[in-house]
Amino acid sequence: MIEVRNSGQFVVPGEKLGVIEEFIPNSGTYVKDGIIYSTSVGYVLIDFANKKISVYPTARNMNVPKIGSIVIGRVTSIQSSYATVQIVKAGRKFLSGHFTGIIHISDVSQRYLDSMYDAFRIGDIVRAKVISDKNKTFHLATREDNLGVLYAFCSQCGGVLVKRRNLKCTVCGNIEKRKTASDFGKGTL
Ligand SMILES: [Zn+2]
Repeated sequence: MIEVRNSGQFVVPGEKLGVIEEFIPNSGTYVKDGIIYSTSVGYVLIDFANKKISVYPTARNMNVPKIGSIVIGRVTSIQSSYATVQIVKAGRKFLSGHFTGIIHISDVSQRYLDSMYDAFRIGDIVRAKVISDKNKTFHLATREDNLGVLYAFCSQCGGVLVKRRNLKCTVCGNIEKRKTASDFGKGTL
């Protein structure tokens, strides 16, 4: 099944836009096996009167995470073997699109990790490196010292955690673990 697209929706290259039974492919698109895909990073334009679909490219120098990019994002979910991150910044630029990254438990730390919950919690702000973009998924790693959690929030009360020997909540005193970056809490994003 292909999702219904709307004008103004943000797409990336290779994203499905529709089928040739529905639309006439126009600029910024290509067709493969009857399916219309985007060739650009940009916004969908649908001309319903003429059944034409096109992609209006955003600025050419717009940043997209690439292999080797250092990205900043927010942890949005945690499973036993991986965490998902909403990427908001790649290199020095904030991103206008929605990019999701995945950190597998084996890519978190150089040390063995029992549980993803000892490394990340939902809402944490992390710095990570893009190690693969296979299947249009950004695979991230935080093994290096300068990578990992930059800001963390208490899982009990939402208070800001500060670095002591472990991490301690400034509000309720709860002690938590994270895979922190070397400049955790220093305000550098
Ligand atoms: Zn707390």
